[in-house]
Amino acid sequence: MTDYNSSSSLADILAASGHVGYYWDLKTDQLIWFGAWQKLFGADRPLPPHNAETFAATIVPDDHRIVFGNSANSFDREYRLRLPDGRLIWVHETGTTEQENGRTICQRGMLRIIEGAQRRIVAAGPTNAALERDPLTGRPSRSYMLAQVGRLLEGPKEHRNISTYLVVSIDKMAFVNEAVGTKSADILLRGVADRLAELIPTKAILARVGGDMFGILLPGLAGEAQPLSDRILKSFTDRPVTTPDGPIHVTVSIGGARLTNVESGASEIMIRAEQALNDARQRGRNQYVVYQESTTRAQEIRAVLELGERVKQALKHDKLRLAFQPVIDAQSGDIVFYEALARMFGDDGQLIPAAQFIPVVEQQGLAVTFDRHVLDIAVRELESHASLVLAVNISGLTAAQAEWPEHVQRILGSKPDVAKRLIIEITETAAIMDVTETKRFAELLKKLGGQVALDDFGAGFTSIRHLRTLSLAIMKIDRELLLNLVDNPEQEHLVRMLISIAHGLNLRVVAEGVETEDVAQWLRREKVDMMQGYYFGKPSLDRPWLELKGTEAHANRAKPSTGNGTADKTNSVEARNTSFMRA
Ligand code: C2E
Ligand code: MG
Ligand code: MG
Repeated sequence: MTDYNSSSSLADILAASGHVGYYWDLKTDQLIWFGAWQKLFGADRPLPPHNAETFAATIVPDDHRIVFGNSANSFDREYRLRLPDGRLIWVHETGTTEQENGRTICQRGMLRIIEGAQRRIVAAGPTNAALERDPLTGRPSRSYMLAQVGRLLEGPKEHRNISTYLVVSIDKMAFVNEAVGTKSADILLRGVADRLAELIPTKAILARVGGDMFGILLPGLAGEAQPLSDRILKSFTDRPVTTPDGPIHVTVSIGGARLTNVESGASEIMIRAEQALNDARQRGRNQYVVYQESTTRAQEIRAVLELGERVKQALKHDKLRLAFQPVIDAQSGDIVFYEALARMFGDDGQLIPAAQFIPVVEQQGLAVTFDRHVLDIAVRELESHASLVLAVNISGLTAAQAEWPEHVQRILGSKPDVAKRLIIEITETAAIMDVTETKRFAELLKKLGGQVALDDFGAGFTSIRHLRTLSLAIMKIDRELLLNLVDNPEQEHLVRMLISIAHGLNLRVVAEGVETEDVAQWLRREKVDMMQGYYFGKPSLDRPWLELKGTEAHANRAKPSTGNGTADKTNSVEARNTSFMRA
């Protein structure tokens, strides 16, 4: 092993620019480093990694495919290294390979640490989003795509006008997920990503922009959109994707939008393409539809963008609020915990419920920032009130982020008392889309003392096989299922079945959206563990636990509410929450 570090001017130059260089001879598998490699691999190490195997051992396993799954002549990538003290660092690497008779014989590259602060900015805005990657497919993320479309829009008009953005989605992914195992579903997603990568022109950019959606940007290649879409559709119809459960036949639908007549930037383009994609699905799937401008369409899009802007402002100026809704013990009526639900104020001073803006948050690539913000507020609240138990919601896009568990570990690792009073809710549909990542996150939260609840259960198609792997603690039955429940035998049968599945998996069951006494009674009879809904208390900005600080005298009971079921009002909860861990 040659050490070039001590006196060479090359090492000085590299150190001054914050880079570390390497040369890897693949014939002898010898890896030589230039510059202050200790920064990358830890100061305590006598020597840096000297071959592929020892180098691979320092790379986070999830990121191996980013580093080793690429045979291109040049590369530009980010991934994570694990330091000997357990800390994770992000590095940015650029480099080239040299080929001989079609085989790579050597590789040269330069690495630079991307600081923590930089990475947080990455999650906060599209500008540096180039560093975000989807861990499952190794492809860039939605925010990366937003940034790329944004760059094109800022460039010369002639170029922009001949560019197109396509969004490709796997038809009936939820059914596919149900039909095959977790591993196969993941491999299918990767397979689709790889297939698209094979089919697109070299200049095109591919990203995973949603659970089962891939974005393809065709810079200066608008004429390619139709033939490429035809190729993609045909390829999936003709050829299945290979998985451990055997070949899987899927079809895809495609929406497209030209980068012309844009007022509000990249989000507008991506939303247009997704609207076209919806049309393609409605027209029977397995087809390509191009976005057509219309007045209603334009208005809808404007409303979405305005709401997105309001969310950004609320995040920036700390104007986001949480409303709290009690979840009560079905038998005793005691409050077990509160669910925190995001709220913003509209121009008229009225509260805007989450249902209105969360889809926009996700569409605009703000989910991770948003959820971090909500988690921060919740953790602060938990820190100042020792008997409080809170549930917060996170978006599926957040749960699928490789960095999310590390973020949660950073926030909660040193606060076991807070972690054990925190529940994180993930919707069923999100959880089945990224079973592997959700599982990793749920296990971590459990280790830290917290719990994961599966939200809106019954709305998706999760199979028991999936549920079992997920380290869940709580199952929340979707409130839609309680509509017209009583005296409707089919509906009663369905809910009864879901309760028994959950109990069979040792999960505690919350029924959401309980609005009347007869539903509550029915649920009590069916041995639901907890209930939540307007009947017991509406989400409210009030924090009932404040009134009770230091008081032990009150009964821990939520009175049935007689509210009209529309606006968030102060609920009638008059008690503190009870011990949550007893169940
Ligand atoms: P969710 O987590 O299933 O929350 C329950 C939703 O049902 C809330 O709507 C709540 O206000 C409403 N609800 C509660 N009881 C009743 C009832 O008896 N009847 C009726 N009709 N509705 C009831 P909200 O606050 O608008 O939230 C909608 C969804 O937005 C949530 O569904 C959750 O998935 C998402 N969400 C809320 N806050 C956040 C957040 O901070 N981050 C993320 N990523 N998502 C959030
Ligand atoms: Mg929820
Ligand atoms: Mg729910």
